[in-house]
Amino acid sequence: MTTSKLAGLARPAKKARLFGERVSDGRTMARLVMKFGGTSVADVDCIRNVARHVKREVDAGNQVAVVVSAMAGTTNQLVAWTREASPLHDAREYDTVVSAGEQVTSGLLAIALQDMGVNARSWLGWQVPIRADAAHGAARIDHIDGSVLIERMDDHGQVAVVAGFQGVGPDNRVATFGRGGSDTTAVALAAAIGADRCDIYTDVDGVYTTDPRIVPKAGRMPRISFEEMLEMASLGAKVLQVRSVQTAMVHGVRVFVRSSFADPQSLETPGTDSPVGTLICDEEEIVEQKVVTGIAYSKDEAEISLRRVADKPGVAAAVFMPLAAANINVDMIVQNISEDGSLTDMTFTVPIVDFERAQEVLAGARETVGYQAINGSTDVAKVSIIGVGMRSHAGVAAEAFEALAGRGINIRAITTSEIKISMLIDASYTELAVRTLHSLYGLDEN
Ligand code: ADP
Ligand code: ASP
Ligand code: MG
Repeated sequence: MTTSKLAGLARPAKKARLFGERVSDGRTMARLVMKFGGTSVADVDCIRNVARHVKREVDAGNQVAVVVSAMAGTTNQLVAWTREASPLHDAREYDTVVSAGEQVTSGLLAIALQDMGVNARSWLGWQVPIRADAAHGAARIDHIDGSVLIERMDDHGQVAVVAGFQGVGPDNRVATFGRGGSDTTAVALAAAIGADRCDIYTDVDGVYTTDPRIVPKAGRMPRISFEEMLEMASLGAKVLQVRSVQTAMVHGVRVFVRSSFADPQSLETPGTDSPVGTLICDEEEIVEQKVVTGIAYSKDEAEISLRRVADKPGVAAAVFMPLAAANINVDMIVQNISEDGSLTDMTFTVPIVDFERAQEVLAGARETVGYQAINGSTDVAKVSIIGVGMRSHAGVAAEAFEALAGRGINIRAITTSEIKISMLIDASYTELAVRTLHSLYGLDEN
């Protein structure tokens, strides 16, 4: 019996090729995790379509574990109900409610598969078990025991249909992994069962140079490095949950993003040609590297400005310590130089969900900080340029500032790292800014 650990992973998942390398009856077979998101399981017909994708892989001789999300819209509805019941509710009960959607789809997919003659069984988080920490609502996966699933694959070719987004906390209660958390279930499960690949099936056929809903000229990237994908996801590209990319990076899981809406039978047979999608892999595996690979945007941050703050040592600490103590993450920070050396303005961003709480915390710290006024806005957006090529190219930021200025877009704050530049702008200019940057760096497809 094999027990694969995720925590501190004793054995990192081996670096397999895109397609499997196990051989059975002379055929190349792989162990796969296939994950299907909300729009892919939106109703019973869609679930039947998903079952056909799964059957294709089973018929090709592969061992398969499936991870499903809730039907599209279901989790939003469940979240809304918890708020309606009480705006300030117990996070353990939130988890009991919002994890329900995945229970339904895992059972329905197992039924659809059985109906097609595929041996399948559904699994809730606690049954696998997928052990998580105690941070209800945003729990992290600590450990997955994949041994029973592997045993059933080996002995009976059984397909495991695992409910995404949920595990069991140290308190023995269901714990959920944050919105979009089924991606993380899938990648962590792939690491735990030593899968050759984790296929993320969604409503787009891969990762694009930017959100294809905003820029129709966006192009699909055949490959993207873990590091760039991590930045894209952190900076707003919701195609993968940030933690799923971190998990893939740490455990070396090859993640392949592809469409569930492609006809299950028309997809090329694995092992021959590569199917359409985006492979997330090590940087060394990418032959053609552009300076800028993608543009992301997020409207999930709010801006806070403290006016006329004393310009002296200790002020920044007086502002940011209480925010940190309240568990509020500050992202972009701008401090103006004071003209007379005594008073200055300080601007920074916080997650939009923490906007009101941050203002309350700062109001409480007014005595120690000593500011004159506090202003805030939720009407801002962060637009980011991502690319590992920026490490060795100067001038990328300057070009971006010039292009946005040419469109009359004011930049309110800037942050940079080796491989990204983020700019805070008025939310109403988001689409224009994304399109402008997308064509500036030659990412438009004709
Ligand atoms: P699922 O329900 O399958 O998890 P999501 O809605 O979470 O799907 O993610 C897919 C969506 O991510 C796409 O419909 C697309 O609008 C959005 N998206 C944002 N940025 C990108 C990007 N760079 N590439 C592809 N999709 C993106
Ligand atoms: N159903 C959950 C959500 O909507 C998890 C997921 O879809 O990944 O956030
Ligand atoms: Mg998603």
